[in-house]
Amino acid sequence: MHKKSIVILGAGYGGIMTTIKLQKMLHVNEAEITLVNINDYHYQATWLHENAAGTLHHERTRIDIKDVVDLNKVKFIKDKILCIKPREKKVKLKRQEIDFDILVISLGFEAATFGIPGLEDHAFTISDINSARLLREHLEYNFALYHNEREKNPARLNIVVGGGGFTGIEYIGELANRIPELCEEYDIEKTQVRLINVEASSSILPEFDQQLAEYAMNSLEARGVEFITEAVVTECNPDSIVYEKNGKKEELPTMTTVWAAGVKANSIVEHAGLGTTHGKVEVRKDMRTTEYEDIFVMGDCALVRNTDTGNPCPPTAQIAIQQSKIVAHNIKSLVDGGEMKEFKPRLIGTIASLGNNDAVGSIYRQYKLRGWKATVAKKMSENQYLFKLGGFRLLMKKGKFNFFY
Ligand code: FAD
Repeated sequence: MHKKSIVILGAGYGGIMTTIKLQKMLHVNEAEITLVNINDYHYQATWLHENAAGTLHHERTRIDIKDVVDLNKVKFIKDKILCIKPREKKVKLKRQEIDFDILVISLGFEAATFGIPGLEDHAFTISDINSARLLREHLEYNFALYHNEREKNPARLNIVVGGGGFTGIEYIGELANRIPELCEEYDIEKTQVRLINVEASSSILPEFDQQLAEYAMNSLEARGVEFITEAVVTECNPDSIVYEKNGKKEELPTMTTVWAAGVKANSIVEHAGLGTTHGKVEVRKDMRTTEYEDIFVMGDCALVRNTDTGNPCPPTAQIAIQQSKIVAHNIKSLVDGGEMKEFKPRLIGTIASLGNNDAVGSIYRQYKLRGWKATVAKKMSENQYLFKLGGFRLLMKKGKFNFFY
């Protein structure tokens, strides 16, 4: 009997959880499971803002694939995926081409720059370990250079974060903690550093109600963050950012623009011709594409709608992890002829960190959390994920237990 070849693209939240479930559900004689990822590690994308600020070392965020995937049951290929050929049932990698019977696409997100001039060339993004590390090192370099240059350039100490959504606010919250440390390290007066958030709408954190958004703004302002709201970024240069507010153009000198005002699905899915809406693949309720019986798309690459409102679900790790259960179940059904299940997103809770010991969150859309309670809840849910992924050993190695400081 022909053993089905199951290929999983991407070892992020969706891909790695699907792999781990499948390695338990399918016997090696039933199917050959292959996981392809650009690196030999999985990373906690939800911690990248901490790596980018320098408050958490990137080694904590990386998890070796061999530590969580059973390589006796799963073939792992470390390679860059270049394109998917759905009709030919092939995936082109940088070093080889592979065939599949069943494909899972879980290639995550990319920054969306909406064609704004200069952003792609001059702005930093927080999209993977290396982009986070680059940003951290750029900050440190500018602090070191400022102190040493004869003619001081204040733009080196102006840090602008574009976007007041989840990533932008979590990052600026970490920076508010990190800047006093950097100032001390590089002998710079804290008053010389500006942390500025530029946001197009009138408030921040649209995921939360007005009360929680105001709490977040007040907490960050108290730690030195400036907000420029109702301001639309129109241009980014190596040493400034231009925005429009009240019909007037303003230019802010900065050597550090961090673009966190939008993400889109990995562009590989759009180029694969899988039928996209706003760059994401429309999927059936069982997570397969509308056109192909044996291609699943999940996580940030899939367009999934809220069953009550019909609106697209925001791209979150929470949703990608939930989907892995259904995708793994449905793949097993394809292999051994069982029934397909439908994916129903459950929004359990959303918590945005505002730095080390402050956060805002809402649980089941009813209970509001703020301050240290929200921080504890967030760290607990992150620890829960580590436990699901790699059991007690991984939890003890990578978990967050510094709950109250
Ligand atoms: P990802 O986790 O992005 O994984 C994609 C994988 O594919 C990666 O391993 C990548 O290396 C690999 N890959 C990509 N391209 C290629 C290629 N060409 N070849 C080979 N491999 C490739 N969500 C929450 O639920 N809660 C939060 O608190 C939260 N906080 C966040 C904070 C930050 C700073 C960021 C950036 C995101 C946050 N998110 C949060 C969103 C969450 O991280 C994403 O929704 C989630 O990572 C999506 O999972 P995924 O499996 O679709 O893709």
